[in-house]
Amino acid sequence: MLDNTRLRIAMQKSGRLSDESRELLTRCGIKINLQQQRLIAFAENMPIDILRVRDDDIPGLVMDGVVDLGIIGENVLEEEVLTRRAQGEDPQLSILRRLDFGGCRLSLAMPADSVYTGPECLDTKRIATSYPHLLKKYFDSKGLTFKSCLLNGSVEVAPRAGLSDAICDLVSTGATLEANGLREVDVIYRSKAVLIQRAGELSDDKQALVDRLMTRIQGVIQARE
Ligand code: ATP
Ligand code: ZN
Repeated sequence: MLDNTRLRIAMQKSGRLSDESRELLTRCGIKINLQQQRLIAFAENMPIDILRVRDDDIPGLVMDGVVDLGIIGENVLEEEVLTRRAQGEDPQLSILRRLDFGGCRLSLAMPADSVYTGPECLDTKRIATSYPHLLKKYFDSKGLTFKSCLLNGSVEVAPRAGLSDAICDLVSTGATLEANGLREVDVIYRSKAVLIQRAGELSDDKQALVDRLMTRIQGVIQARE
């Protein structure tokens, strides 16, 4: 087991959040050597261990209390919360701060030549997505239903492949949609990266360290505004 007196922070190992997560921690004064392809990196100057994992694992690691803090996209966090609730669990965690990176939107997109006048156009249709619970929450709120086509990659090819009528996927520029003959028709969720903390009290030492980090994060983000 890892040394439980050290604060454990989970971040994405490699992907859209990893560079900025690392930079944020570095700007907070945490000296970490992430050069090696290691799961765990130890901070040299503070009692902090950095766990580097797939982003999808981060909400669960925090909810299960395996790590103290995590940096994760709200989209992935919310989908995991809704998934666990659908399984009858009552996931607990707190959001310490919304961060200033990782911005994207979860959108509905349809073949470019199709007519869209509102989400009711998609009532009872088949929609490909990696975010079935976020999509269901949106459709429920409109009193609509859809048939799910769950894909964890290549979502944007589903309509062309005849697998679905539409998709619900993350978008930042829209270039991927366009390249696949799709048109963004509605935004259902806007996401940024957030810093989250596990439920339950931290030891006094860990809490003092988290308070210090929060002050520094505040300063780093304000300086960038
Ligand atoms: P992993 O290998 O860790 O599972 P991944 O492929 O699932 O990575 P990335 O593509 O690296 O995930 O995206 C991580 C997060 O970055 C997304 O969940 C989202 O919060 C955010 N993000 C920001 N911009 C975009 C974008 N244009 N497309 C997708 N995700 C984006
Ligand atoms: Zn992922």
